[in-house]
Amino acid sequence: MKRIALLGATGSIGTSALDVIARHPGRFAVQALTAGTQVDALVELCRRFRPRYAVIADAARAVDLAAGLARHGLDTEALAGPGALDFVAADTGADTVIAAIVGAAGLSSTLAAAEAGKTLLLANKEAVVMAGPLLFAALARGGGRLLPVDSEHNAIFQCLPNGYDRDPGAAGVQRLVLTASGGPFRDWSAGQLAQATPEQACAHPNWRMGRKISVDSATLMNKGLEVIEAHWLFGMPAERIDVLVHPQSLVHSLVEYVDGSLLAQLGSPDMRTVLAHALAWPERIDAGVERLDLLKAGRLDFQAPDRARFPCLDLAYAALQAGGGASCVLNAANEVAVEVFLAGRLSFPDIAAVVADTLAAVDAGPIQDLPAILELDARARRVAERETARRSGVPATAAMDRTAWA
Ligand code: NAD
Ligand code: MG
Repeated sequence: MKRIALLGATGSIGTSALDVIARHPGRFAVQALTAGTQVDALVELCRRFRPRYAVIADAARAVDLAAGLARHGLDTEALAGPGALDFVAADTGADTVIAAIVGAAGLSSTLAAAEAGKTLLLANKEAVVMAGPLLFAALARGGGRLLPVDSEHNAIFQCLPNGYDRDPGAAGVQRLVLTASGGPFRDWSAGQLAQATPEQACAHPNWRMGRKISVDSATLMNKGLEVIEAHWLFGMPAERIDVLVHPQSLVHSLVEYVDGSLLAQLGSPDMRTVLAHALAWPERIDAGVERLDLLKAGRLDFQAPDRARFPCLDLAYAALQAGGGASCVLNAANEVAVEVFLAGRLSFPDIAAVVADTLAAVDAGPIQDLPAILELDARARRVAERETARRSGVPATAAMDRTAWA
């Protein structure tokens, strides 16, 4: 029986994870569930999955959570606040932690799980972008292992040899190829992009996801974050990580070996396959996913990403090449810009502009520890808010809508 702490249970990844878990009641027990602000949804999940702990990150809703659990006669213990996320990630008898909080808000609990030696199912890519070296140092100290819950990285993991340990040379790996759908604006002109709305950005052609990652997919920042994620997860230098647009989202990524072999993982675009793989690893279990019928699919297309219309991809490569805290600055600026875009107060092309301006303005320096990263993250956010305000004409604080994706 694996005991699971699911951080970000009410989100898109959380929902897919619980769908897989519910199919295998003899295999998985839910130890903890967490949410940002959605008390009612969290209580409903507690009714179904009976965890030992429920955490609402927004401390102002602690009383509501306790009352909701009591109303249903549940003996789940109610906890609240960011510290409680770290607690359930590290200290409560779960052996497996699914890190599925969106954004920098998931960093501390992800590190706590790694430090505590848990099996870390990592969806929260922002954590590895902000703090890749810290995360791997924590994993080494804790003695746990990381299993990727991002479709591309999970595909690469499946195409790498067993026991691969961040050393491409030793495994004869030449290159990683990340596939990208291209997002909803793949064929839009620059003029159309200038008018793109949050609803259009969130209408992804192949995947149903949270709003933040949906916008990231539309700007290609998601692929940029994934390049950085692949660098840390697989020890691959930036210049040997390629991005290929593949509109059907059936080939989830590829690994090229020195002998010319190119291995790919294919499947329907459904995160339950990824979650089932990571939850059961090294075994295989049913995920409830529709089989991929290649005859029905008919064709697989590939094209180069348009780096001029989607500058976020190269901004991410540049941040990775710059090293130190630059990736943390990139992430912070992007989170601010996406939030204001989702609130309807920043144009779509200005997301990339705000990220570029912030990267240019903030002296990132090297990263040492979590306090230094949080300080850099806060500093980058202040600059990004200033840049956002300048471009949107709305004062930074008024432009922020804290509930945009919580
Ligand atoms: P989502 O917005 O659907 O869900 C986010 C979850 O985090 C929710 O449970 C929310 O309550 C919680 N949360 C939000 N703000 C919080 C805060 N400040 N403190 C604590 N909890 C907070 O997002 P998602 O699409 O499920 O994505 C989650 C993560 O997984 C992201 O990092 C994303 O990049 C990554 N990911 C998602 C997908 C996908 O298909 N959705 C695929 C690959 C990777
Ligand atoms: Mg992905």
